[in-house]
Order: sequence, then C-alpha cells, then structure tokens
Amino acid sequence: MLLALGWWSYLLYIKNNDAFNAKVELLTLNKIVLGKQDYLQSRHNDPDYLELKKKYRNQEKMILGEAAVLAITLLIGIWLINNGYRQQTEAAQQSRNFLLSITHELKSPLASIKLILQTFKKRNLKQEQIELFSNNAINETVRLEKLVNNLLLAAKMETSYDIKIEEITLLDEVYKIKEYLTSQYSNADIRILIEKDTIISADQFGLNSILTNLIENALKYGGKPPSIEIKHKKDNYFDIISISDNGNGISPLEKKKIFDKFYRIGNEDTRETKGTGLGLYLTQQFINKHKGMIKINDNTPQGSIFAVYLPQQK
Ligand code: ADP
Repeated sequence: MLLALGWWSYLLYIKNNDAFNAKVELLTLNKIVLGKQDYLQSRHNDPDYLELKKKYRNQEKMILGEAAVLAITLLIGIWLINNGYRQQTEAAQQSRNFLLSITHELKSPLASIKLILQTFKKRNLKQEQIELFSNNAINETVRLEKLVNNLLLAAKMETSYDIKIEEITLLDEVYKIKEYLTSQYSNADIRILIEKDTIISADQFGLNSILTNLIENALKYGGKPPSIEIKHKKDNYFDIISISDNGNGISPLEKKKIFDKFYRIGNEDTRETKGTGLGLYLTQQFINKHKGMIKINDNTPQGSIFAVYLPQQK
C-alpha cells in the first residue's frame, strides 16, 4: 500500500507539472497571437503567468502534503495492527501459561498428598517413615495454601487491601524468612548485610510478602548452588533493600514484563521451576501501596539485583 501510494503521488506530481507546462505554452501562444512577440523574455513579470505558477506551486504542496498525511496514517495503522496482534498473541500465551502452571501447581501437591495417605492406609510404616511422610504432606498442604492465598490476595489487591504502616525490625523479618526457606534450599549461600537495629516503616504482611517473594525467587532462579545477598541502605527519602542472586539474569525486554499478573519467562511446557507468575505482581502491588518503587539491575559477573525502595516516614 505504501509503494502504491508513493507511485500514485509521484504520477500525480508529474501530471501536475505537465499540466502547468501545457498551460504556460497555451498562454505563451495566446500572447504571441495577440502580438506580444517578446513575451518569452518578459513573461516573468506577467500577472497571468505568475498566477498560473502560484496555482501550480500550491497544487504541488497539496499533493506532497496529502501524500505525507496518507503515508503517516498508513504507518500508524500498520503499527496499531502489529501492536494489537502482538498483544493478542502474548495474552493467549499468558493465559495458556497460567492454565498450565495453575493446573500443575494444584495437581502435584494433591497427587502427593493422596499418595502419602494411600501409603499410610496400605502399609505398616515405621515411626520415622510416618514422620517423613507427614512432613512431606504438611509441606504440600502449605504449598497449596500459599497458592490459594496468593490467588485470593491478587483479587483483593485490586479492590480492598489497605496497608497499615508499622515499625518493623528488618533483620528479624529477614531471619524469619530465611528460616522458612532454608529447608527447601539447604545448599544455598545466603549472606545478610543488614544492621541489627534497622527499623523499617511498612505494612507487616506486605513487607513479609515482598521479601519472601524476592528472596524465594533469588533462590529459585539463582545459580546452582544459589548464592544470594540481602542488603539494606538508606538515602534521603528511601529505605533501599536489595536482593542479589547469581542466576542467569533477566533480559531488558523481560524486565518490563515480569511484574505482569501470571507472567513467567519462557514456555510452561518446558519449564522446570514451580510457580504461577503471581509473586512479582503481588510484590509490585504492595510496593505501589507503600508509594515505593522497585528496580532490577544486572549483577556481576551474573544474575540480577532487585532493589526495593520504601519511602521513609518522617
Ligand atoms: P513465579 O516465580 O511464580 O514464576 P514471579 O512473579 O515471582 O512468578 O516471577 C515471574 C517470572 O520472573 C518468573 O517466572 C521468572 O521467570 C522471572 N524471575 C523472577 N525473579 C527472577 C530472578 N531473580 N532471576 C531470574 N528470573 C527471575
């Protein structure tokens, strides 16, 4: 369409030029017939000729202007269609990913709890086996509970969740989360660089959720074994908590998308890590409620650094 538009504009431009030349020739012939033999030399001062030329120039501008407007409209149209198409494919992929990951996240704990209960029923187990299986079943139940809670929270976040700012000792909060996560990531190296008496003004549940999601992600998507660092510093306005890992890092394009609801990098069919794509969405929502911000930088030599900026209460 753009080529056709260019071609027709060019033809119109040439035709306009031809029409002008023909009109000038007709005018010249008329003037010569009327006895103005020196018309060819003097026509640059002739009002008829100047009027003709003015019209020609105006038409020339009109053709070029209209061609430019049409070309721009066409380009905007192409961009909009392309954008809409891309968004639709992404939305389709995302909803497929969501269905696959949720189904998987629901199915696998249920299947293992069922298996454990069937084993209890059929066999006479030793005390330590009972202990081990019960712990597994409890862990799976916790996983299910977390998933359901996150789904409910995601719905609540958009409407009715209000934060309650309290003074929280950051180190205590981080240790609590570390303790909760270390059983799953026993080989991880977790370094905590936070001063003992650091107090943060935040919503208790919100801060816990932000830190748990970010620390768990750093362990989940970190290197093998994971090596992560949790730091705190302050500037004039913010408490800045950063969590760095030694994973594969995140590409600039993905950095913008990973906070979307249910977004997970890659394809659900081939992914090995568990998850639903809700963690960073909820993290972002909590940070917004605190009027803070979150930034992702690349770690060196590899990995990512998630930095949470929470405003200090003056
Ligand atoms: P989930 O972990 O349940 O998939 P999240 O919302 O927490 O969901 O994260 C969204 C996606 O962002 C993850 O699927 C993962 O691909 C990517 N991601 C999050 N944190 C990291 C990280 N520290 N390093 C690399 N990728 C990450």
